Amino acid sequence: MCRHLAYLGPAVPLAGPLFDAPHSLERQSYAPGDMRAGGTVNVDGYGVGWFPGPVRYRRAGTLWSDANLRQLAGARSTAFLAAVRSATAGMPVADAACAPFADDTWLFSHNGRIDGWPHTAAGLAKTLDVTDLLTMDAPTDSALLWAVLRRRLATGARPEQVLADLVREVVEEAPKSRLNFLLTNGKALVGTTWTHALWVLQKGEGVTLASEPLDDDPDWREIPDRHVVAAVPSTVEVRPI
Ligand code: GLN
Repeated sequence: MCRHLAYLGPAVPLAGPLFDAPHSLERQSYAPGDMRAGGTVNVDGYGVGWFPGPVRYRRAGTLWSDANLRQLAGARSTAFLAAVRSATAGMPVADAACAPFADDTWLFSHNGRIDGWPHTAAGLAKTLDVTDLLTMDAPTDSALLWAVLRRRLATGARPEQVLADLVREVVEEAPKSRLNFLLTNGKALVGTTWTHALWVLQKGEGVTLASEPLDDDPDWREIPDRHVVAAVPSTVEVRPI
């Protein structure tokens, strides 16, 4: 299972959650605290995207060995999303298979898998047109979910609704799927929990969502399973899916 996080608030260096925090994303790549479904480490890729932009950087391989990313992580941002990847068996290891997936407005990450891929995803794929399919980032479940989402988000529908609907739709076809999503447009953070953890920390003027708490701050709260969360620094709304 991948690990991901997103931050929204006053501008801070990306390096904090990526490298400097006691349980940073870098640490979660080789010593995650809460892996499920057979994964042990997150060494197949990593990525970060930040606003304004979004600007996005992603690579296959191990996060800790990328000196370029350490330099980039000096950038300060008011909103960013980052992830480390443990590729689902049978899925390609490549830059373009790593989160965040992005368009001009959104950054997206998926922790989990569509159970029974690719057969159980045929119905979802049929909601797309040929161009959507030909421009998918990679032949993976996460890239397909993003291709569907970017289309639905472009209609202006509420992102928490779009994510919750997509979770319901996927588990109808593939009930054992794991669907922890993270999404931001730089103005709000939206996430889902579906058989894996997600935590929230409201601190000062900022809010962070993360697969695992980044430090031992007692204010980290766990989002219950099967919920959708919409967060801005002042308010965190959590609803059942
Ligand atoms: N299924 C996705 C992939 O292979 C995400 C994997 C995960 O959460 N570990 O990229």
